[in-house]
Amino acid sequence: MPELPEVETTRRGIAPHLEGQRVSRVIVRDRRLRWPIPEDLDVRLSGQRIVQVERRAKYLLINAEVGTLISHLGMSGNLRLVEVGMPAARHEHVDIELESGLALRYTDPRRFGAMLWSLDPLNHELLVRLGPEPLTDLFDGERLFQLSRGRSMAVKPFIMDNAVVVGVGNIYATEALFAAGVDPRRAAGGISRARYLKLAIEIKRILTHAIERGGTTLRDFIGGDGQPGYFQQELFVYGRGGALCKVCGTGLREIRLVQRASVWCPRCQS
Ligand SMILES: [Zn+2]
Repeated sequence: MPELPEVETTRRGIAPHLEGQRVSRVIVRDRRLRWPIPEDLDVRLSGQRIVQVERRAKYLLINAEVGTLISHLGMSGNLRLVEVGMPAARHEHVDIELESGLALRYTDPRRFGAMLWSLDPLNHELLVRLGPEPLTDLFDGERLFQLSRGRSMAVKPFIMDNAVVVGVGNIYATEALFAAGVDPRRAAGGISRARYLKLAIEIKRILTHAIERGGTTLRDFIGGDGQPGYFQQELFVYGRGGALCKVCGTGLREIRLVQRASVWCPRCQS
């Protein structure tokens, strides 16, 4: 599933080809994504210049002169640039054709993604209640400490809660808790300020590193497969339940926390 670093890598990959370009037409082959693609998307977007491509949480905001295309990659979506007129294969649901001769093509085999239109995207119902971006100063350990007081839920689902901070998916929560030495099962409200300061630093470090890794794949957005560097980052614990800890050699344990696989080292994390 595309996580925040992959979405940010996608933004960086497609933005230079979109910004400043005028849309000549929009072809929708299948409207049935998580929500239907608006019937009038072609009418809304065609003829407009794309001003900027931004990201909020895992949503891409393709800002036109008037209005914004909000896109989410869901479980299996990707965006890449192809030449206008390149035949579409199965699951290639949308082409946004540009006057440059390139088209932004959306592919999504499982169709859990989204393409929506909004005149006020930051107040759209999907975005308005989102917490701060993890790589901004609005997110820090003090915020984690304050929001966690009195809460008995486990720390791992707490840091994955989009109202607390956006973009900390299962991989990054698992890895950041390991790096900070925090047991994912612990009650969020019982963890000290000092440990939350360390945890926030590790979340930022690991996400930044993943985005930097994704940067090596930017050229693949034109003519390539649009699959940015998934899982290229070195994983210490995620997906390694039953294997040995790379730091201390102890067997890694695995449980499910709020339906998500959670792996930790019983020696390195407490
Ligand atoms: Zn260990």
